[in-house]
Amino acid sequence: MRAPRTNRTTRKQRKSSFSVDYRRRKICRFCENKIDMVDYKDERMIRRFVSDRGKIIPRRISGNCARHQRQLTVAIKRGRHLGLLPYTSESYR
Ligand SMILES: [Zn+2]
Repeated sequence: MRAPRTNRTTRKQRKSSFSVDYRRRKICRFCENKIDMVDYKDERMIRRFVSDRGKIIPRRISGNCARHQRQLTVAIKRGRHLGLLPYTSESYR
């Protein structure tokens, strides 16, 4: 099932005199796609919420709602345990 993406906030609509850009209201991706359980096996989905150093992206940046962020952290930790996701990245030092 693929819901049409209607709810996107259009950027560049308002003239930004100062940085309004990252204070833009974000919508929880999981709510948007009507996912009620975050699947730890869905690596592609979860990977978006992990930084390139393997850290979990905080809610204030990802825009997830509290419920899904909580599920996501569990899913990421499970994914790490299964070896789907890195704990850390070695390429940075
Ligand atoms: Zn949500």
